Amino acid sequence: MEGKLYTGEDYKKEFDSQNYLKTYYTFDSGTVAENEILKFNLKNLFETFSSGELRGDVLSNTGPGPTIYQLLSACEAFREIIASDHLQQNPQEVKKWLKKEPGVCELEGDSGRRRRPVSKGQSRGLLKWDSNQPHPLGPAQVPPVNCVLTLLALECACHDVDAYRAAGRGLVSLLKPGGHLVTAVALRTQHYMVGAKKFFGLHLEKETVEKALQEAGCQVLRCRYSPVSYSEAHCINEGICFVVTRKSPRA
Ligand code: SAH
Repeated sequence: MEGKLYTGEDYKKEFDSQNYLKTYYTFDSGTVAENEILKFNLKNLFETFSSGELRGDVLSNTGPGPTIYQLLSACEAFREIIASDHLQQNPQEVKKWLKKEPGVCELEGDSGRRRRPVSKGQSRGLLKWDSNQPHPLGPAQVPPVNCVLTLLALECACHDVDAYRAAGRGLVSLLKPGGHLVTAVALRTQHYMVGAKKFFGLHLEKETVEKALQEAGCQVLRCRYSPVSYSEAHCINEGICFVVTRKSPRA
C-alpha cells in the first residue's frame, strides 16, 4: 500500500476517531480478526481485574483513544480512573458513549450497566499524555497511582525501540511502588490504517516488550501471547501480547 505514512505530530490533525472505531471495533463479517483481538484483550482484562489481585484507589488509563472496552472490567476494581490521551478528539467519542448518543460503537452485551460507574465521580476527565516526554502527563499533578493500563498505544506513539523503552520508564514512574502496569501490544507492527490514512507502527517482539518493562523496574507476572493478527487491509502485524507487571515494592 503506497501513500504517506503518518507519525508523531500528524496524529493531532490526521487521526479520525470515528474511522478508527469503524475499522477496528465494528462487528461485521469484514472484521473477524479485529473481533478476535478484541476478545483476546477482553478475556485478559477480565482475568486480570476480576481476580482481586489488582485493585485499589486510582487507575491511570493512558492512550485509550476513542475506546472504552479496556475499562469494562477495570472500573469494578478501582475507585477512580484517570484517562490521558494525546488527542483532543478521542474523548469526544467516549463522552458520547457515556451519554448513550446515537452512532456510538456498542459492545456486544453492553447493556449500559457499566457506564454509570465510569461516568459519575469515578473519572477525572481527560489529561494530556505524550508518551515521548520524560514526564508523560506534563505539568498535571497526579499522585502516584495503583495501576497504569495502556493498550495498543505505545507501538503507535514510539518511533523506535529506545523511545519505547523510555516511554515504559515514563509510565512506570507514574506508579506507586508495588503498583501494576498492564499493557497489550500488537507485535511486529509495520503500519495501521485509520480510514484511508496509514499510520506508523513500531516493530516489537514479545521479548523486547518484556525486557523493556523489566528494565523500567517491573517484574513480569504474566505474559499471554496470541498469534492472531489484524486483517491485512487494516494493519500489518504478527501476533499480540498481553502483559501484567508489578513495579518493585522498593522502587
Ligand atoms: N487504546 C486504543 C486506541 C489505540 S489508537 C485501543 O485499544 O484501540 C493509538 C493511540 O495512540 C491513539 O489514542 C493516539 O492518541 C495515541 N498516541 C499517538 N501518539 C502518541 C503519543 N506521542 N503519546 C501518547 N499517545 C499517543
